[in-house]
Amino acid sequence: MLTDTYKCTKCKEVKLKTDFHRCSRSKHGVVSQCKVCRKIESAEKYPSRKEYFRQYARENRVRINERSRNYGRKNRAKRRLIDQEWEAKHPLDKKRDMLNGKAKKFGLKERTTLAQLEALWEAQGGICPYTLMPLSPRTAVADHIVHPVNGGSNTISNIVFVTRQVSRHKLRLSPQTFSERAGLDFEVVSQRIEAIHCRYKNAWQANP
Ligand SMILES: [Zn+2]
Repeated sequence: MLTDTYKCTKCKEVKLKTDFHRCSRSKHGVVSQCKVCRKIESAEKYPSRKEYFRQYARENRVRINERSRNYGRKNRAKRRLIDQEWEAKHPLDKKRDMLNGKAKKFGLKERTTLAQLEALWEAQGGICPYTLMPLSPRTAVADHIVHPVNGGSNTISNIVFVTRQVSRHKLRLSPQTFSERAGLDFEVVSQRIEAIHCRYKNAWQANP
């Protein structure tokens, strides 16, 4: 095939077939004009493709912008849906990423694993230690008990699942300050958190 030659219908030169663009529909497997001739012809047809597209963009700016905006909108919804579906299937992955992202931001070395979070979730039994409200894997928030800015680590012993509402109000407050402000008995809260981590440790040791 490489040694096959073919005569260009334009410049009438006999050239190697590799000097022609391929065309599976044609009898000879290549187009009738050589690459050089095709290039010259297309340059004559479109004096400046760049200028042509620039002009087109100038004249159709509103339409182009609107179209790209619509496309973005359509895909945002689609992307969000894909994200949501993934999150629903893997609720703890997202929480692990959030925790580790936060740890990185505050310069903490420890990283939490998915297995640890799964074990903690089991140990916690779907109850928020602050409010005693039921937790769902999707809406629960994995919270640093002592916030990293106050010296809290990113180890599992400093993490507990709470409701979104607690997370929103606790922010960087210590568990004690938050409990007092929320009218909760801090002693009871800390006992609950301790019990969760005790169950976690036992389960972890039994099945590491
Ligand atoms: Zn030619």
